Amino acid sequence: MTITVPETRGKLGRVKLIGSGWKPVSMVDVYNSVTFTLWLCGCNLRCPFCHNWRLAINDIHLCHRIDVGKLLEDLGSAKPLIDYLHITGGEPLTQYRGLMELLTYVRDSIGVDTSINTNFTLYKPLEKILGENLVDHLATDLKIPYHLLYGYSENIAGKLWRLYLKTLSLVAEYNTPLELRIPVAKGIDLDEYVKYGGQAIKQLEKHSRFYIIIQPLLGPPITTPRNEEWCREYCDPGEDELDRVAGVFKKLGVDKIIVRKTLSLG
Ligand code: SF4
Repeated sequence: MTITVPETRGKLGRVKLIGSGWKPVSMVDVYNSVTFTLWLCGCNLRCPFCHNWRLAINDIHLCHRIDVGKLLEDLGSAKPLIDYLHITGGEPLTQYRGLMELLTYVRDSIGVDTSINTNFTLYKPLEKILGENLVDHLATDLKIPYHLLYGYSENIAGKLWRLYLKTLSLVAEYNTPLELRIPVAKGIDLDEYVKYGGQAIKQLEKHSRFYIIIQPLLGPPITTPRNEEWCREYCDPGEDELDRVAGVFKKLGVDKIIVRKTLSLG
């Protein structure tokens, strides 16, 4: 199926989205799924390990206005091959107005399921997207401990963590399929996973369609993190640490846990 450029340009020419581009077929961005992946720019967090930090800070050498007509034309062509249009970044919800227009068009005129990778700290925009039935799958990191991984002071990070928990609870109400990714940092006390993991999983008591992916935070040369010094201290945990974190979530009652000992970067 091909979407004609004049049609999409007419309806969506005004949609403003800033991103770095898209990949028509990807096997690594959503577990067990084939996606058409779009990267958008901007983010409200400052995670020190972030390997997409240049997108997060809207680097003008990478980020530009997306040609939405061309994007939809490519999406129409890829439709038979993919499970989702997966939108990641950066933090896609920082551009939620344009994002909602795009999602509405994709749902109503192309008929491809959609997936968003978001940090779950922008509650209101996600509430609107869920309320309008515009997303079929979500992915988010469960960053433990949040005060180390969000890149903010304890006070600000604490507020963001409460928003994160509130968003988890919202997603549980909708029972939207959820990929909960746990990026494991080196040398973190397991009690932190028990404490904060327990708070997170409690929000998902009524959610029957989530799964956990446990994966290492990887540093150079595999990634180019925002803060290399931070990464020297906390990146590249041992495989045994991943297994121990998996054990914590098993004890917390999670059925579906996938441990990825090497990371595929999206
Ligand atoms: S890891 Fe994600 S949430 Fe954190 S700064 Fe990077 S894009 Fe933002």
